[in-house]
Amino acid sequence: MISDFQPVIGLEVHAQLLTTSKLFSTAGTTFGAEPNTHTTPVCLGFPGALPVLNARVVELAIRTGLALECRVNEKSEWSRKHYFYPDSPKGYQITQYEFPICEWGGVTLELAGKRVRIRRIHIEEDAGKSVHDAADGLTLVDLNRVGTPLLEIVSEPDLRSADEAVEYLKILRDVLVSIGVNDGNLEEGSFRCDANVSVMRKGSEVYGTRCELKNLNSFRNIKLAIDTEIARHVDVLEGGGTIAQETRLFDVNRGETRSMRSKEDAQDYRYFPEPDLPLLLVTPEEIARAKATLPELPQAKRRRYVERLKLTEYDAGVLTAERGFSELFERCQAAAGVEPKKVANWFIGEVSRLLNESGVKPGEVKFSPAQFAALLMAIDAGTISQNAGKEVFGEMFHSGAEPAEVIARKGLAQVSDTGALEKVIDELIAANPPNVAAYRAGKVQVLGFFVGQVMKALKGKGNPKVINELLEQKLKG
Ligand code: ADP
Ligand code: MG
Repeated sequence: MISDFQPVIGLEVHAQLLTTSKLFSTAGTTFGAEPNTHTTPVCLGFPGALPVLNARVVELAIRTGLALECRVNEKSEWSRKHYFYPDSPKGYQITQYEFPICEWGGVTLELAGKRVRIRRIHIEEDAGKSVHDAADGLTLVDLNRVGTPLLEIVSEPDLRSADEAVEYLKILRDVLVSIGVNDGNLEEGSFRCDANVSVMRKGSEVYGTRCELKNLNSFRNIKLAIDTEIARHVDVLEGGGTIAQETRLFDVNRGETRSMRSKEDAQDYRYFPEPDLPLLLVTPEEIARAKATLPELPQAKRRRYVERLKLTEYDAGVLTAERGFSELFERCQAAAGVEPKKVANWFIGEVSRLLNESGVKPGEVKFSPAQFAALLMAIDAGTISQNAGKEVFGEMFHSGAEPAEVIARKGLAQVSDTGALEKVIDELIAANPPNVAAYRAGKVQVLGFFVGQVMKALKGKGNPKVINELLEQKLKG
């Protein structure tokens, strides 16, 4: 019975840093270039080629550590991790082992209501890619990715279900994207995750043997793979078997995990301090500078929208999903001076729709927050209807036109002037004595007839709210 067991999960995330050049060389990092064009002697592991640290990588690592509430170590160390594989020309990877740059942070899961500890964050270089060409049975090597800077973010085994693992990863990805260190792209592999999964009998305090799952390139696959692996462990243990510690590959098509290799021990990697690089030293000033430029993080922003702007969790989630979008929302909100909910509705509706349709970025829209505010005030004051407002906004969005100018040019203003409306209403009442009598006898639906007639006389431009009020007043007699 799966319910007799408690799953335990720890995640290792590899996030590619958004730098234009590699960790230890000047080669570029753009995705999808012609194979083997982004390589220098350092990437290729030529004898005598020496690594030179990219300072930007250190800045981004510090930023990440702070955003994930870690301690940033003023002194950390580079190590060589050895393994032999065609996509790693040096025969080793430069990584951080004993002394990583950041340690002991964490992430708060809101749905699960718990904290997941982050044990360490270290910097390391990526490997190249082996491309298996089925047509001619060859394996080709593309070294463009060799030496691309990665952060490895290692959680403690604090997660207890596939859903918690996915929530943790989504929060982590949001943080990394919002602070500009990673593009959050699982499909292209710039945000990758290995999941360590084990199970133990309920009530036990001793963790079971874990397996490490690889090849998880979407949130959906991550959930599927973890659930599949949990079920496999339970089956094996229930059948009296034991779990071997190993690395397993998730096969999406078959919906199963299968053994890839037995898990290496640290000694298999023959780690030792990297002799070609000095210790990595970070000053308190550098840490303070990184702290000062950290933006408000997604979770904090969402909380502020809910608590201070009184928006729903849903609205807050949509508005904060992308930083540029939430910044535009806040500028318009500040200018508009109406309830935040009204501005939120416009952003979730029309603003989103036109941004998506046009491909324009929120930071590059043609309308100003002041123009947006003027539009909302025109609707609020009843000068134009909500629908006319959408038409006006469409023009503002595409041309940056002033709302007042569009309203005048298109003749969208509603007649709210009571004098003008009263005149029309008085004439109608005088011309329709039977309907007036019916209304007074209790047939209130007749109001609709009058509203329709007034609107017709005004060619649809009457302010319905004012018309209704005036009509009720006058029909009562
Ligand atoms: P290694 O360095 O050999 O990969 P670590 O002890 O550093 O091993 O752990 C790697 C990952 O495995 C961490 O994310 C950790 O939380 C997770 N982990 C460790 N033990 C277990 C376990 N018994 N079950 C599930 N995950 C585990
Ligand atoms: Mg590991």
